[in-house]
Amino acid sequence: MSLQSKSLFYILVVTAVFLCGVRSAGGIGQTGHMVVAEMATGDLNKTDYPGFVNTLNAFPSERSCGSVFPDWAWPSFYQQYSRIAHTIEFQQAWTKHLKENFSSPYSEREKREVSFLMGMTTHTYDDPPWHAYFLPTAKSNDNAEEWLVEPGTDIFANWELDKRSEVTYGYFPVETAVNVYVSLGYPEVTESMLVKGILILRAAYWAEKFAGYQGYLNLVNRMPWTDDNYVTYSPGGFEYGAEVSAQEMVNTWNYLQGELDQLPLRDMPVFVERNILLELGRSLLESGAIEIPMQRTSEGEYFFGASRIVGRKSLD
Ligand SMILES: [Zn+2]
Repeated sequence: MSLQSKSLFYILVVTAVFLCGVRSAGGIGQTGHMVVAEMATGDLNKTDYPGFVNTLNAFPSERSCGSVFPDWAWPSFYQQYSRIAHTIEFQQAWTKHLKENFSSPYSEREKREVSFLMGMTTHTYDDPPWHAYFLPTAKSNDNAEEWLVEPGTDIFANWELDKRSEVTYGYFPVETAVNVYVSLGYPEVTESMLVKGILILRAAYWAEKFAGYQGYLNLVNRMPWTDDNYVTYSPGGFEYGAEVSAQEMVNTWNYLQGELDQLPLRDMPVFVERNILLELGRSLLESGAIEIPMQRTSEGEYFFGASRIVGRKSLD
């Protein structure tokens, strides 16, 4: 990464995020979304929904990737498409697309898409309560600004709760995404734009895993209330977000199965996310410092491998 990237990496992440004030604003970070999606799956009653729970547990990577997808365009020049991806209209258009094109019992490929959609559902419903209730309380109790609480919470989650380092592949159903944007009147959203956004998310997640621990202990000392409460605080903590999300996942599942005629409409605010970790992911990718292997299937799905450094010299 030409950039000057070594300096970017250490100065930007370690210094800027942890010590001085690069501003960011937004909802839960990537690890947080993945953890909430996992908790929400655990909240589902396996006895009532055995097929549903089995699908989610069989495809955890798809669920994790869906849970971060709406943020795909924040660190780019077309943020308006991430804004759209956070709306109820988008959530419902995606769900309808699956209902019209897939029928139960699902094939393995269809199960992947269902798991991805359910991850996305948790994102749609866990961002708002976190932002509305947890964030202001954390800011006040730790006397910390939003730009610190937001990535800080994600680094807590990454180092205290995350199991995804074991996940070896990423997943993205690109044809479905393009179709949903077209159905809502945005044919200008192309496959290459979407894939680039997904690569940035994956690069950012890698950077968080790689660089996060350098600041972890500082952050614990700086924001002890946040660290003690981001999971359990109610309303707005991760467990609360998971409960809300689980209910919406059940509604979505019932709708897909034809047991619910309409998805409930909710009035959800959208919070624009300018997250330093996402911007770092973009820099890493654009400078050629890391490479993320990927493969497209003929059915319009992408699979991504593990990120690795390929431009070490550009880190010097
Ligand atoms: Zn978001």
